[in-house]
Amino acid sequence: MTQPGKPKVFRSHGKRLELPAYIPSFSETHIADRRVSANWNGAVAALKLFSPKALMLSAFDFLYGPRASLEAKEALAEHKTISERLDLPQAALLFLDSGGLESISHPDLEFTPEMSYAIQRKLGADVITLMDFPRSRTGDTRAPVIDEFDVATGFAALHDGSAGLAAVIHGRSSDELVRQTTRLASLSVVKVLCVPTKSLGGNLEKKSETVRALKAVSLDKVLHILAEGSPKAWGDLVAAGADSFDATTWCRALISPETFRQIAHWIPPRTTCNCVQCRGELMEVACRSRTDMLVHNLSLFSSKMDDIRENVGR
Ligand SMILES: [Zn+2]
Repeated sequence: MTQPGKPKVFRSHGKRLELPAYIPSFSETHIADRRVSANWNGAVAALKLFSPKALMLSAFDFLYGPRASLEAKEALAEHKTISERLDLPQAALLFLDSGGLESISHPDLEFTPEMSYAIQRKLGADVITLMDFPRSRTGDTRAPVIDEFDVATGFAALHDGSAGLAAVIHGRSSDELVRQTTRLASLSVVKVLCVPTKSLGGNLEKKSETVRALKAVSLDKVLHILAEGSPKAWGDLVAAGADSFDATTWCRALISPETFRQIAHWIPPRTTCNCVQCRGELMEVACRSRTDMLVHNLSLFSSKMDDIRENVGR
């Protein structure tokens, strides 16, 4: 069932994205998964081969990631967007995230809301994410407290509206999330509201309940769930009103060939796979390199979302 007011297509910066959508993401400097993040080249190579409809990269990486920052410097010198520089599909919606999460693990490096906004804009983001500070992750009471609404109103005044603005909402309770979402939904320049899956609540039922409450106060916005890496949860969250998801779990194969099977859990072992990589072969046979596995994983994630989108449309 399509909900009233639920957007089916998201348009930004002249690009369009069908909803609900899966947006592959990865970060070179992510705190939680340094071994994954180390392999920038492998991840970019897989994205080129797979050709996603959207992708999410981190603003912090482009300032401080060993490899990403070099690419960003080259892009700026060549007056290219980062998608052009990396030769990624030009039609893909480029969603940059604020880098707030990555900045936590590098407190020695200067990273401000202004720096985050500026680098995303310069690199041609189709969706610019306003800086957030996930304080619930750190528990650090000395850390700066960033009010997402203050950041959004500050940048809304400067923003020319060509790219969509996304605001990230953290909250220590569902009441706080709903309150902050209501405030941010009042800003017309903010097109996307992002909520980390961890902020939604403990189990899937609680998460769905929170999503329903958030959607009810932000019907004309895209509700993006950050870091929900389990496609098994996507169907329920879409039914509750969520519009898009990112996940880094597709690049588990960068750690080792063994870990790649951990995420292919909805395909029983030793069965054939019909993804664009395997083409009906056993995945063990069809995936000879880690790049192959990454493409296979991306395909699985995407086809899961294609199924969900088809069911929503009925
Ligand atoms: Zn496959």
